[in-house]
Parts: sequence; C-alpha cells; structure tokens
Amino acid sequence: MKFARILLKLSGEALMGDQKYGIDPAVVSMIADQVKEIRALGVEVGLVIGGGNIFRGVAGATRGMDRTTADHMGMLATMINALALQDALEAKGVHTRTLSGLEMPKVAESYIRRRATRHLEKGRVVIFGAGTGNPYFSTDTAAALRANEINAEVVMKATNVDGIYTADPKKDPSATRFERIAFQEVLEKGLKVMDASAIALCMENHLPILVFDMNKPGNLVAAVKGEAVGTLVS
Ligand code: UDP
Repeated sequence: MKFARILLKLSGEALMGDQKYGIDPAVVSMIADQVKEIRALGVEVGLVIGGGNIFRGVAGATRGMDRTTADHMGMLATMINALALQDALEAKGVHTRTLSGLEMPKVAESYIRRRATRHLEKGRVVIFGAGTGNPYFSTDTAAALRANEINAEVVMKATNVDGIYTADPKKDPSATRFERIAFQEVLEKGLKVMDASAIALCMENHLPILVFDMNKPGNLVAAVKGEAVGTLVS
C-alpha cells in the first residue's frame, strides 16, 4: 500500500447520481463498497463530505440570506450526507463514526481530534461532518484541515474528471492530463483543484492532493496502491 492513512474528500454532488438534487441510495451504496474495499486492505480512512447536493451557503446568500445562517444550513446539509454514508457503510459491516464539527450530541459525536485518531487506529472509518464548523469555509478546506490534524498522508479529492488537464478536456480535445504538478503551478495557472485556502493549507504543510475520478470502479483501490491514476499535486 502506498498510503496507510488517507483523507477522502467527496463533493455532495457525488451522491446525487443522475438526480438533480439530494441523495441516490444506489450511488451511496457504490461509494460505500469502494471504501469497504480499501478498508479491507488495511488503509485507515477519514472522509469529508460536501453538501452541494442539498444546500450551499453562497447560493442562499446571493438570494438575500444572511451568509452565516446560510452556511449553517450548508453545514447541516453535509451532516445529512454524512449520516447517509455512515448508514451505507455500517450496513456493509464497515465500522463507522461520524464526528460533527457542530455539536449535535444526539446525532453524532462532536469532533475531537484525539478521538478521531483513536477511531482510525481501531480501524473505523471516520466521517467528518459539518465541515470545519465555521461559516465562510468550504468542505475542501475542511478536508485539508482534518487531513493535517489526523496526519493523513494524502488528500484524495474525488471528481468527475480523472485528474488535472492543461485545459478543459470537454472543450479542448488537445488537452492533456498532468500526472504530477506542483502546488505553485496550480496556483499560478489558477487550475481548479480545490479552493485557494484548501490548496494553501496543503502546500504549507507539504500534504499532497490526489485528484482522481471515483466514478470508475477500482480507481480508489488503485489510488491507495499508488498506481498511476489521476493527478498528484505536491
Ligand atoms: N460550509 C461551511 N463551513 C465549512 C464547510 C462547509 O459553512 O467549513 C457550508 C457552506 O455553506 C458550503 C456548504 O456547507 O456551501 C456545503 O459545503 P460545500 O459547498 O463545500 O460542498 P460541496 O461543494 O463539496 O458539495
């Protein structure tokens, strides 16, 4: 195994499947299968899930809502997704704990770093819900933050494209995929990998980001084995 402990970042939209909104249980089940596969290989897995399939704070704010309130709604949306994933994983026999960045003790444990690492050592998948627990942040930044806190070796950012390209491959057929790219180049070229604060947090702490396509079955296993999938930013 190339990586013993990873932080997997899924966008909320990854749970939608072909729907326009919400959660497709079949898709959640497929994701849980892939996580189960890498757990069986002994990889310790932290997971940050977005909320964009349900609600994004910015969308509320542009329609006149108070930004902080809208972001609280966004964070609650990530908890809905976290519970769906927890449920699917547990149903497959994968021990899972959701730790919430916002206190809601009747629903999930509150995020405590030492508790998170203990769960990981015991082989439980840890889902970090409610992002960082603060408004004005994204779940990309939450992924970078939690990955650093738990000493993950890599942030694996699941997307719909199998890595970072020189141009948008859907618009430019001559676009080629980078196998590796430096953080500095990502920032200079304004390549859309994660938001700037997430990139900065990873760059400062020398935490690599692997951008890869999780819709392809087998890709997550290949990625943790260090096979050439996606683009590694380091
Ligand atoms: N959010 C927040 N603080 C955080 C993480 C998320 O306020 O630390 C809110 C924010 O409103 C965001 C929403 O939760 O729009 C959903 O997260 P995100 O947009 O990152 O989800 P994704 O795009 O990955 O589905």
